[in-house]
Amino acid sequence: MYFSKSLIPILKNNPSEAKIKSHKLMLRTGMIKQSSAGIYSWLPLGFKIMKKIEKIVREEQDSIGAQELLMPTIQSADIWKESGRYNDYGDEMLRIKDRQNREMLYGPTNEELITDIFKSSIKSYKSLPQLVYHIQWKFRDELRPRFGVMRCREFYMKDAYSFDLSDEDATFSYNKFFLSYLRTFKRLGLSAIPMAADTGPIGGNLSHEFVIIAETGESKVYTDKRILSLDFQDIKPEQKSLSDLRLNFDQYYAVTDEKFNQEEFDKKVKNENKLQTKGIEVGHIFYFGDKYSKSMDASVDYNGKKSYAKMGSYGIGVSRLVGALIEANYDDEKEIMKWPTSVVPYQCAIIPLIDKKDKSNLEKAEKIYKILDSYNIDTIIDDTEESIGSKTKKFNMIGIPNQIILGKKSTETEIEFKQFDNQTKTLKLNKVIDIIRKDLIN
Ligand code: ATP
Ligand code: MG
Repeated sequence: MYFSKSLIPILKNNPSEAKIKSHKLMLRTGMIKQSSAGIYSWLPLGFKIMKKIEKIVREEQDSIGAQELLMPTIQSADIWKESGRYNDYGDEMLRIKDRQNREMLYGPTNEELITDIFKSSIKSYKSLPQLVYHIQWKFRDELRPRFGVMRCREFYMKDAYSFDLSDEDATFSYNKFFLSYLRTFKRLGLSAIPMAADTGPIGGNLSHEFVIIAETGESKVYTDKRILSLDFQDIKPEQKSLSDLRLNFDQYYAVTDEKFNQEEFDKKVKNENKLQTKGIEVGHIFYFGDKYSKSMDASVDYNGKKSYAKMGSYGIGVSRLVGALIEANYDDEKEIMKWPTSVVPYQCAIIPLIDKKDKSNLEKAEKIYKILDSYNIDTIIDDTEESIGSKTKKFNMIGIPNQIILGKKSTETEIEFKQFDNQTKTLKLNKVIDIIRKDLIN
């Protein structure tokens, strides 16, 4: 990809309307463009990063046996009337009428729609458990959309649903998602803390919010910091090991302001283990039993008896995660963004010094590009006439970890190579490829 042909509109300065790091960087580097309050277009750079996050989210859902499907964004109001939530949901729901004057809405979440699908498709307890998910746009008419993609009105969410026969089976499903969330956030290089949460308008009795620590987060966080070093890498998704895993996490105090109680905090956590900070909610899981299956009459046959499905729902804010990764990893003083390797938009930038009369560096860049491409190293060539300094500054900000500089000092066999603001080294191309590939494997 040539930079001059890319749709990456970089701004010279930080936009004044942005208050937090992620919003600033996303506008500055042209990842997103606001189309109206709380509604954004995702331009190629931002979209590329979000797709990589989505891929990780998807792989971790698949790995616990959840089946992917896709439900529409527009739903009929009828199913929401059946569940009783049509009125309860309030002004956050965008209500629409079609040309036949039928009441429709843009889905803020999908419990009703998935229950309706379940009801017409699954008849016997033998087909349980059912774990399903989709990754789809949601709309919530938030009272105060702000902070760019962190709290917007239209956002991209992975939402999953589980259907089981008994509370015990349903808890097993819940715990599978619990583990898949820990793994997902870990792969994104984030330490997400599962916190006991209120269940809110979705209802129910068992719920965790997954919160990452960030100064700019909207939630206040009170936790025992030992929870941050718990290990879960080798946990097998079996009933006993999963319930032990959750117990292990649940024994540590970890709540947001909604559930905070000073006395309890003082009693349960020694001063030296106390961590009181702010965080960003990146995921939320709920168990709510037969709340929707009963009101919508979604049951299975269990030895001749009617049994309402026990349900849970599990959300991850895929678009919010782009912002959360920036909040966690962007050094806004040095203007350097460090993405986890799994989501970097390009692994390498080739930065030739371009002279109007002398195109030899650009030709060299094109040759190197072909070689990197043969190693599947996703690369961008900056063929603009900006100075080397301003080019490297730009790629530091976008977060391209490896930069090959073709300037006065590079020869046929040796090139200048730099990782972010580290010292520039003169190396052979083979060595540079080794370094980049090693990074890709780790
Ligand atoms: P919040 O408390 O932040 O409003 P929520 O409890 O309403 O979140 P859920 O209904 O559980 O959120 O949605 C699942 C996930 O979707 C959240 O954990 C969050 O990451 C993301 N999300 C929710 N609302 C928004 C929004 N307005 N903009 C971007 N992402 C959102
Ligand atoms: Mg909300």
